[in-house]
Amino acid sequence: MQKYGLIIFIALIMFFSANSAADAAFSFYIGGQKVELAASQVVNGNILIPASVLRDYMAADVESDLEAGKLSISFPTHTIIMEIGSPTAKVNGEEQIMDVAPQAVDGEFMIPLRFVVDLLGLQLSFDAKQAVLYINLSDELADWVRARAEGEPADLNLPEFLNPEQSTTIGTPVLKKIVFMGGPRSRVFIDLDGFAAYESFLLTNPDRMVIDLTGVRWDGPFPEQVINDTLVRRIRSDQFDHRTIRIVFDLNRATDYEINRWPDGGLEIEFNYQIRDIGYYRDEEQNPRIWFEANEQPMFSVQMLPSPMRLVLDFQSTTLLDGARELQVGDPPLRSVRISQNTPSITRMVLDLDGPMIPIEVEEINGRYEIILFEGTEQEYQAKLEREAPKPVEPELLIPEDRKIDDSLPLAHRILVVDPGHGGSDPGTIGNVLGVFEKDVVLPISLELGRLLEEQGAIVVYTRNDDRYVSYFDRVAIANMVNAEIFISVHANSYEGTAARGVETLYNPLYLENFRLAQVVQSELVNHLDAKNRGVRPRTDLHVLNNAEMPAVLVEVGFVSHPEEEKLLIDPDYQKKIAEGLLNGVLLFFQNYR
Ligand SMILES: [Zn+2]
Repeated sequence: MQKYGLIIFIALIMFFSANSAADAAFSFYIGGQKVELAASQVVNGNILIPASVLRDYMAADVESDLEAGKLSISFPTHTIIMEIGSPTAKVNGEEQIMDVAPQAVDGEFMIPLRFVVDLLGLQLSFDAKQAVLYINLSDELADWVRARAEGEPADLNLPEFLNPEQSTTIGTPVLKKIVFMGGPRSRVFIDLDGFAAYESFLLTNPDRMVIDLTGVRWDGPFPEQVINDTLVRRIRSDQFDHRTIRIVFDLNRATDYEINRWPDGGLEIEFNYQIRDIGYYRDEEQNPRIWFEANEQPMFSVQMLPSPMRLVLDFQSTTLLDGARELQVGDPPLRSVRISQNTPSITRMVLDLDGPMIPIEVEEINGRYEIILFEGTEQEYQAKLEREAPKPVEPELLIPEDRKIDDSLPLAHRILVVDPGHGGSDPGTIGNVLGVFEKDVVLPISLELGRLLEEQGAIVVYTRNDDRYVSYFDRVAIANMVNAEIFISVHANSYEGTAARGVETLYNPLYLENFRLAQVVQSELVNHLDAKNRGVRPRTDLHVLNNAEMPAVLVEVGFVSHPEEEKLLIDPDYQKKIAEGLLNGVLLFFQNYR
């Protein structure tokens, strides 16, 4: 428990130092269920949440008297009494000190979450990368929550998920299987049906990677899997202690890894890319080229170091096969190229130079990646580009026709950009059963949405209104050029297999407005379609969201990889319904926040 407390504390400080404390810019799950958090606060790294969450999601009896500033929370094992402004709580009659005192905010009793979680012996974990906070319920507590939901539905204001008829899993997540998926990063999927806390680390002599999952159930140990991939030799799993399942990857060589959490709680492990051979030559245009062989193109960073002059390329998430080596080149200004494993995740290439050189492009030629070098400095290269470049072409604007707008309409004269994803040579994702193209589904939805928005008085600018290719750069440039008030990008989703379904909305978490727009659009669309709610997701890697100068969201309206949703998505009535849901979200955004 303490160990997790520290990790969470650090993660929360890092996360919340960049945010205003008033709004929850994170998602929150209890027992695998998403919590609709009306308010939250962070005080000295402690999250305060409304006491009603304990009633609604953990079936606690909560009695509060805001005027007297008193609150009592009862679980089967604990009765906790708190007072506003006092850091002393009474737990089963005994005094205990909390890190932070409860507060009253907007008629809600705000209580320190971690104090309660620690008391109940539960696990709290925070995924800083995805800004998700999880609490796993113990089996006992999960049983109790379920029993109360069945026994006293009238008296408890429990959310829908606890309705026995539509009950999904609550409580301890189950480890279902461990699947080796292979590919350039030797991917492995740990199939969990809920959110589990984990720790991972590397061991040497022999090289191994270990993941410990805590508070997880399984029917294991699973049989050992012999893989003999370039990196992964074998996968073993065993009960480590009564709370911990240990998964061990025996490795064929040292490698680093990354772990990504999937929406339903599963964990995906990606090991390093692998770099094999390197070489050098000059092409027909006399451009110097360094090439390397890799199973996929890794990202790399570039640094120029003076005296002696060197160009250093750090290839991220890569393992260098067959050891360090040096290539004597002797083609001025390049003297030699050295390559070695610098850290478990970085392969470093050093070019020893007698004059400046910079990498300007990478080309893939039959599994070989060739870095084209320019003989000169960055400034000299920029100057050359400016001399040679044609004047930039502004993206084509689809200016809506002039029309008379009734000033009393809710969106009168608002300029809104609707961005149908993909198009032309870019089909987007492709359906599993019918082979539906994402680009063909999102266009009619977007056009219908635009029509509905115009009915409400908006001036709608599309990034495309037919089947054409528009780059991401142009899409966002269009929105910025017309000074749009919001930007809505319409996409459809896909996922390996056919199980994933539902609606999710992506937004850049840097600005609160994005989160607000994402929330209203997501909830209105989910309600209108009665679709599975996959939540709003902060994303910082999407060009259109990062560069829009107005509130912007990317809505994934359904899964073309799900056979039923694929069928729905090509149904004009369903497309119309999606457009209506999106319209409702936009209307609510302007009503609430403009
Ligand atoms: Zn898409």
